[in-house]
Amino acid sequence: IVVGVPRESAPGERRVALVPKVVGRLRSAGLNIVVEPGAGGGALMSDWLYEEAGATLGDPWACDVVVKVAAPTDEEIGRLKPGSVLIGFLGTNVADALADRDVCGLAMEAIPRISRAQSMDALSSQSSVAGYLAALLGAQHLTRFYPMLTTAAGTVPPAKTLVLGAGVAGLQALATARRLGAQTTGYDVRPEVAEQVRSVGAKWLDLGIEAVGEGGYARALTDEERAEQLKRLNEAVIGYDVVITTAQVPGRRAPVLVTEDSVTAMRAGSVVVDLAGETGGNCELSVPGEVVVRHDVTIVAPLNLPATMPESASELYSRNVQALLELLITDGRLTLDFDDEIVASACVTRRS
Ligand code: NAD
Repeated sequence: IVVGVPRESAPGERRVALVPKVVGRLRSAGLNIVVEPGAGGGALMSDWLYEEAGATLGDPWACDVVVKVAAPTDEEIGRLKPGSVLIGFLGTNVADALADRDVCGLAMEAIPRISRAQSMDALSSQSSVAGYLAALLGAQHLTRFYPMLTTAAGTVPPAKTLVLGAGVAGLQALATARRLGAQTTGYDVRPEVAEQVRSVGAKWLDLGIEAVGEGGYARALTDEERAEQLKRLNEAVIGYDVVITTAQVPGRRAPVLVTEDSVTAMRAGSVVVDLAGETGGNCELSVPGEVVVRHDVTIVAPLNLPATMPESASELYSRNVQALLELLITDGRLTLDFDDEIVASACVTRRS
């Protein structure tokens, strides 16, 4: 089996699907790896590191399995070998093109979030990176300190950070903000998260609205619940220096949690970091991909945040890909068991 690692072509995408360390492990397991020259360049991993790990430099598209981070372009799909397997964050637009090319697509984002698949959970690994960076962006844009400081010139009180949506990214943002010395509070519509919020040293904000959906995710709120939530959040948000939002509902536009009224009520110099920019944003005033200042509050809505910390993001993603490859390849043979829940869920196209 030969596994190909292309250079990512999406603008700003600095991650790579396999890092040299993981290439070495896959080589030991008997796989051949072909890496496109420069594939690790965005993450500052040079070609010779890949060669040293046992990879060959060459055309990755003609391989039996191609591993990517971002979804392929049409041109890239045209270079895939019929009968091959493509692994990556495939999104919603490539299934037909892959089927026409007779390529089996396995979407990393569709791997079920069950215990057995934890090591392959790229949504979680990349959300951890995003949550960490969100806390740093809050600190960077805030016009005040995060930690409490006792200095000869007097005492500076700690910043207060509120995280709305305490899933994987939210918990990491809470943990990071606390390490930097902020006082932290977490909020979610899934009450079972309260304990996890407390376990990272944050207070739990209870607004009395529960919305537990399928598979560990939240469900969308009803119109009535939404109005009530916004009313309570508008009051709660006042007094926080940094508000980090991460709320998502699968398959829908992200819910609006921070309105213009809330932003107006925040203290000048405060910051909103909105991680839901890709699905429309949790803050009414967010401009996805940009940093804007409204009512003296800085609103940061980054896109594809994990790509901006490419080394660690690629390392974690590579381990997710390695775990999936180990499931698919036994005794040097590629066997896709479509009765396996993981393979069946991840598969967006297959040979009939
Ligand atoms: P996500 O990115 O889909 O959403 C982020 C958070 O936003 C969630 O915690 C959600 O409850 C919250 N949210 C949605 N609508 C909201 C609203 N209107 N107001 C406030 N909060 C709102 O979620 P995620 O971080 O990818 O994962 C969510 C959960 O999935 C995890 O906390 C965990 O329970 C589960 N999970 C399980 C596994 C596993 O068992 N292997 C792995 C990863 C995640």
